[in-house]
This record gives sequence, C-alpha cells and structure tokens, in this order.
Amino acid sequence: MSHNLRSGLYDTSPLYQNAVLDLDMAGNKMGLDMNVLERLKMPKKAMCVSIPVRMDDGSVKTFEGYRVQHSTTLGPGKGGIRFHPEVNLSEVSALAMLMTMKCSLVGLPLGGAKGGVRVDPAQLSRAEHQSLTRRFTMEIISMIGPEQDVPAPDIGTDSQHMAWMMDTYSMAKGYAVPGVVTGKPVEIGGSLGRPESTGRGVVYVIEHAIELLNKRGEQKFILKNCTAAVNGFGKVGAVAALELAMRGCKVVAVSDFFGGLYDKNGLDVPAVIAYMNTNRTLKGYPNAQQITNEELFALPVDILIPAAIDGVITRENMKNIKAKIISEGANGPITSEAQTYLENNGCFIIPDILANAGGVIVSYFEWVQGLQQFFWNEREVNEKLAEIMLGAFNRVAGNAEKYKCGMKTAALISSVERLSKAMLLRGLFP
Ligand code: GLU
Repeated sequence: MSHNLRSGLYDTSPLYQNAVLDLDMAGNKMGLDMNVLERLKMPKKAMCVSIPVRMDDGSVKTFEGYRVQHSTTLGPGKGGIRFHPEVNLSEVSALAMLMTMKCSLVGLPLGGAKGGVRVDPAQLSRAEHQSLTRRFTMEIISMIGPEQDVPAPDIGTDSQHMAWMMDTYSMAKGYAVPGVVTGKPVEIGGSLGRPESTGRGVVYVIEHAIELLNKRGEQKFILKNCTAAVNGFGKVGAVAALELAMRGCKVVAVSDFFGGLYDKNGLDVPAVIAYMNTNRTLKGYPNAQQITNEELFALPVDILIPAAIDGVITRENMKNIKAKIISEGANGPITSEAQTYLENNGCFIIPDILANAGGVIVSYFEWVQGLQQFFWNEREVNEKLAEIMLGAFNRVAGNAEKYKCGMKTAALISSVERLSKAMLLRGLFP
C-alpha cells in the first residue's frame, strides 16, 4: 500500500529499482516483517546541496551534491563519496542502501550512507578538486562526524580527497578529527592495507567460491589453471588483477572506460599497472591486443570481475557471458534480470555486498584504530580482513543452501536477519 504513497523522489534510477527488487525477493524468501521491509526501501535522511566552485579560469561553476543516510540502526552511517557525471539523488540513495546491507552482512557496528557530486572528475584540476571537496564538506558538515556518519573514497575520489575532508571538518571544529573519514593517507591516521582492501577481498571470496564449488563436486577448479577477465582497472580492478596473477591465475583481459587489453597467454599485470600509472589509461599499451569492453564480457574465461561501475551486465549482454564465477567488485554491476538469467544458467555470482566489502571492513579497522590511537601492522589488518570475509562468505553460502536461492538473495537475507533484529529490539520512536 505504501508503494502508492511514494513521490518518485528516490526510485527514479535503475540502480534503486534493482535494489528494491532484490530486497523484495530476499524479504519474501525469508518471510520478513512487511513493516521492516517497507522501511528499508527508503533512506533515513537525505541532503541535497549546491556547491559553487571558483574554477582556474576565474569563472564560478555550481555542482549538485548529495549525502544520504539509509540507516543508522547499527551505528554511524558509513559509505563513500563519489565524483561522477551521472550522480543523482536516486543513485546515491540506492548506493546508501547497499552500504547498509554490506555493513550488516559483514557484522560491522555501522549503518549505511553514501555521498556524491555530479561532476566529471577528469575535467577538474587539482586546485578545483580541492575547492569542490572542501565546499562540499562544509555544506554537509551538520550530517557527518565520527559518531554520526563517516565518509570514505568511492569512484572518482581517493585518499587526498579524504585528507581535504578531514582538514575542513577539523578546521571547523578547532581540533584534529581523524575519525570523520576513512581511506585517509597513513600519515594522518589512515590504515595500512586500506587502498588494497577491496581488491583483496574480491579475490579472497573467489578462493572461497572455488573451494565450495569443488566441494560440491560440480566442477574441479584450481585457481592456478583458471583464466580471468577484469572490467575496470582502478582502485579495485587493478588490485584484484594483481592478486589473481600473484596466485598464478591467468589474467587474460583487463579494461577501463576506453576499452580493454587481451592476451590469451595472460597479461603481465605489473607491467599493465605501471603503464596505467604513467599514462592514466590502458589505451596504447603495446604488448596486448586491444579489445572493447563488450568483447571482454563475452570472453570464455572462468572468472569475471566487473569492477568499474553499476549496470554493465544487463539483458543486452547477459547471453554473451561465459564466465563460471563472477565476483562483483563494483556496486550493482549486474541487473536483477541478468543475475537471475546467469544463475539459472549455472553461473556462480558473488554479490557486491559480499565481494567488495573488504573496503568498508578495513575502513572500520581504520575508524577503530583512530578512536583508540593504536595502529596495527599490515599483516594484522589483512588477517582480520580475511577472517571477516570468510565468516561472511560462509553465512551467505549457508543461507543459499537453507533458502535454496542464489548468493545475492542469500547475502541480503543474511544482512536483513541481523538488521531487522536490531530494528525490532530498538523499536520505533516515539
Ligand atoms: N566506497 C566503498 C564501498 O562502496 C567503501 C566505503 C567505505 O569504506 O566506507 O564499499
């Protein structure tokens, strides 16, 4: 019934519509209280701001910005800040919902939030990036804080943006507040292993998936004999490709926004990363065949990692996919329809809220280390990350078995099991 009452403010993007479809599917499977299900389809709070920025040429450009908290039942809001030309309120709201599910799934004492600015980050100079980040931080300052809502990097932002956010917030407070953001540089309270954490996690769960599939006897996989293709060669994709190559897996293709590289004998991943670092694109890399992103998706590989952006595997190309395991490095890269089709055709999909949770898990470690002023070494970070990822993978695989469903639905069931208990215990105010 409450469906009819919606104004169409949040649910205009395909990402939001998919997230609600997925949630409905999980809610119905687990027999979730309808009151809880309906509440989870809406964010708790959203702020829309205008961000005027003095550009290098002296002109002033005004950008749209958002911060959305989907849920703070389990703790402060948590989630990245995205700089991307397609950002809008609906998309940020969907991503905030995914953060709630992700944090709950892996057992963190954190809620879900997301922020974004509608801008093409490639068109901005460093000075413009800084002005935009500082003014955006000031506009949303009443909503963020170590106990309230803790931003982090996402597409188009990195540790430097977090340093500027931390500095702006700290200037306003009058003292250093490192806990206001995570994904900071190590020198100002960042955690060792945070930059690599998402890509590492994406690969840890592939290892667990291989073990599970081998145990089920459906197929005999050995990572060393597997081939992989990675779409998106940024903070997540490049690390995942390297981690796979280090384990002896043949990474035959990688791609960025402009297109991809292919070598049937396996790419030299460290050389491709070095090329990317110097040239900011994969285009022109000499020792591989150039392919399109669509050609990459259609490759006959064992493992596919969509690690760029949402909505890349849809009804348009789902029939071309030949991979046996997909680990979702990006948030929402496969639409609900394509996911159902692929799972019905025997593809094992490790969903985003599990596969890419490594980032927010180490963000949580960073937040804890900052609050305690006690910092861990990288081995400790990686061990604790691996332990949490394994626990979450097993809970999801257990629910997939129990509810006879795919990993995506099982992951949402696992998240909502924990979250709904907390919601019912806390009760409804007033
Ligand atoms: N932006 C990342 C994500 O989508 C990390 C968020 C965080 O560390 O708070 O999971």
